[in-house]
Parts: sequence; structure tokens; C-alpha cells
Amino acid sequence: MWPFGQSTGPAARSDLASPAKATSGEGTKRKRHIVQTTVTSSVTFSGTGLHSGRPVRMTVRPASAEYGIWFKRTDVRDSDNMIPAHWASVVPSRLCTLIRNDAGVEVSTIEHIMAALAGCGVHNALVEIDGPEVPILDGSSSRFVEGLIRAGIRELAEPVRVIKLLSPVEYREGDAFARLEPANGFMMDFHISFPDPAIGTQNKSLDLSNGNFVRELSDCRTFCRQADVDAMRAAGLALGGTYENAVVVDGEHVLSPGGLRRADEAVRHKMLDALGDLFLAGAPLMARYVGHKAGHAMTNKLLRAMFDQPEAWRLETCDHNSAQRLPGVGVRQADLPMSA
Ligand SMILES: [Zn+2]
Repeated sequence: MWPFGQSTGPAARSDLASPAKATSGEGTKRKRHIVQTTVTSSVTFSGTGLHSGRPVRMTVRPASAEYGIWFKRTDVRDSDNMIPAHWASVVPSRLCTLIRNDAGVEVSTIEHIMAALAGCGVHNALVEIDGPEVPILDGSSSRFVEGLIRAGIRELAEPVRVIKLLSPVEYREGDAFARLEPANGFMMDFHISFPDPAIGTQNKSLDLSNGNFVRELSDCRTFCRQADVDAMRAAGLALGGTYENAVVVDGEHVLSPGGLRRADEAVRHKMLDALGDLFLAGAPLMARYVGHKAGHAMTNKLLRAMFDQPEAWRLETCDHNSAQRLPGVGVRQADLPMSA
């Protein structure tokens, strides 16, 4: 749901009034991303749920301006099957980002498709899914990004609004924290530290404008430790997990065939997750996100802290200069890493 305007609600329309307009090409370069966007055509992803192990089919469809991102559980017909991709719909889950509506209908592991939508600058879409879990695909966002770019991104009539941070907001748990700070664009700093030498301590800072999400983060896969895989399997989780859709490490060894796509793939994946989770704010952020051993739950608590402090942010219509500094600007299929 677009939380700051009159959301058109769950009645997503594919009969959008304005003609499709490609966002590639010099003619539209100056204008694009000042107005909201959606996908030009629908795009379908088929795969397996990481935790359920069940086959799932998911279709991202065009939606009108002010619609935001909604998930629709097409396999649920006896109750409300629409779930807004919104921070207030998130329910605590240790392993992924899970959203649930008032009827108790839920969809999990939304973070990688949300990161792809945020990173490609898609503000409005209806995501139809025939099961409770988004397909894991290769464990990264690359196939989502590829599909969205192939579907095309079209402009809508309404302007983009951004959440501009005015003062820092932080959420802390022990030595872990997540923080948003005022910034002129969208930047991210992330720090992780794991006992396994295969991951160890990793730091990364990125400015996510100019297609950097696609180039630097989109192909970075989710990761876990073999000990955690054994525990999850025993608990009936990660049933769809394979060495192909997650980087599995054991001590100093990377067990997944082919090894790592990048030496610091783990911290880059954490940044990908954070971008997806932050997109649940309902609008792009003009801020710096700092994550220190943070995860899905902390990023959601950070958003809740931000919305609890209305003096810490302001909703602004995005002008041309600001638009150039947001994720989704300058995204090209040619930028997709070859490893993906
Ligand atoms: Zn992830």
C-alpha cells in the first residue's frame, strides 16, 4: 500500500490509462523516476519455497499509481487474500521477512523480490502467488531483476514521494544495531561478523544510485552455516534448500559448488535483504542505512521506530536531482553480473 496517499486498494488494474512508455533511451532519460512506475507487462517466476520445499508460481503484474506493492495469495479463496507489502504487516520471523493480513493470510520470504523492485525503481505492482512462500530461485535477486527489466518499467502519472530523514533514528539490541541517518541519496553501510572463517568479519559501504544495486548486490546469495541447515531441517525448515540456492559454509569451507560469487558475498546479501526490508516503508528513503550485525527483524523495528518519530522524517515530492540519487535510476540489463 502506498501509505501516504489515497491507495487504490487491492483492486490492481492492468487497464492503466496511460500508454506504455519505455524508460530506456535518451528521450526519456531526464524525466524518468520523477514519476512513479510500474512494470510494463506481467512477468512470472516459478520455483521452490526455501522453507516449505513446495513448488510456487509468482506473477508480478502492473498496477496503478499510488497502489504500492501488494501480494495476492491466489490459492486462498475463502478469506481475504490481499496482503500489503508494508512494514506494519510484518510479523516476527527469525529467518525471513513474513507479512500477514488481518485474516491471518500470509506470505513469507518476500525480501529478495522486494529488493529487486526497490533496486529497479518499481513503485507499484500486484504480486500474485499461489502459495505461502516466494520462490527462492538462486537465493539472490538476480532472476527477479532480470525478469523485471525484461518486462519493462513504465511511467505513471503521479510523482514519486520519498521519505527524507531529518534526524537519525536507531534501533539497538546488545551490540547489534540498525540506524537511519539523513543523507543526500540512498547509501548503505553494513558490518557482519560470523565465527566461521569462511564468512568472518566483512564491512561494505555503497551508494545505491546509478544501478549499483544491480551491479553490486543483486547476484549475492543468501547464506547459512551447515550446522544451522541441520537444525533447520530437524525443525522442518529449509526443506527447499540446496547448495544451489544458498551459500552453505562450514568453518573455513564453502560447501556450495562453485564457491562464492564474490569474496564478500555474505555482507552484500545482507545489504540486499536490508534494501528489500526498507522498501516496506512504502516509499523510497532518502537516507543512509547503517546495519551492524542487523537482520530482518531489526530493520523492521527500525522502521517502526522511525514511524513512531514523525519529527525525524518528512515526506517529499521527488525532484529531478533527488531522483538521480535513488536506487532504480540507471538500471540496465547489461549491468546484471555474469555470475548470476
Ligand atoms: Zn536474504
